[in-house]
Amino acid sequence: MPKTEKKAGDHIDARCTRCREITNHTIIAMVAESPARVRCNTCSGDHNYRPPVLTEASPPRVSPAKPGRRTRVDRRWKAQQQEWRDATEKADSGVTVAYRMDRSYRVGDLVNHPTFGVGMVQQVVKPNKMEILFAEGIKSLRCRL
Ligand SMILES: [Zn+2]
Repeated sequence: MPKTEKKAGDHIDARCTRCREITNHTIIAMVAESPARVRCNTCSGDHNYRPPVLTEASPPRVSPAKPGRRTRVDRRWKAQQQEWRDATEKADSGVTVAYRMDRSYRVGDLVNHPTFGVGMVQQVVKPNKMEILFAEGIKSLRCRL
C-alpha cells in the first residue's frame, strides 16, 4: 500500500517548533515526495517539515566505498598516527614550542597548538606556511620563515 501522495497546499500533521507540539500544518513546499517546508495552522509559523513521530533512526547511508582506496587511506592514516605518537613521546620531555603565527619553525620541531594539541613540523612551505602532523592529521598553518 503506497503512502498517500501529498502535495503543496495539503494539510499534514507535523511537529511545530514554536507550538512545541504536533499541530496541523499546510505544506508549502515539497522536495521529491516529502514535504520540505510547512506552515503551522496554529501559529502561522513557517518551518521545515518535521514528522510528527520521531522515525526510528535509519542507519547512516554508507556510500559504496572503493575498497582499495579506503585501505590505502587507512594505512596512511595509521602510519601518521604512529608517527605522531612517536613524535609526541619525545615531546613529553618538554621540548615543545608554543605555536605562534609570527614565529619561525624548522622541520622536526614539536609545536604546541591551542586547538590541535602537540604536533610535529613535517614541512616548511615558502613563503609562510608549514605542515604539522597533529593527532588528527596534517594541518597547514601559518608561520614565519
Ligand atoms: Zn505552531
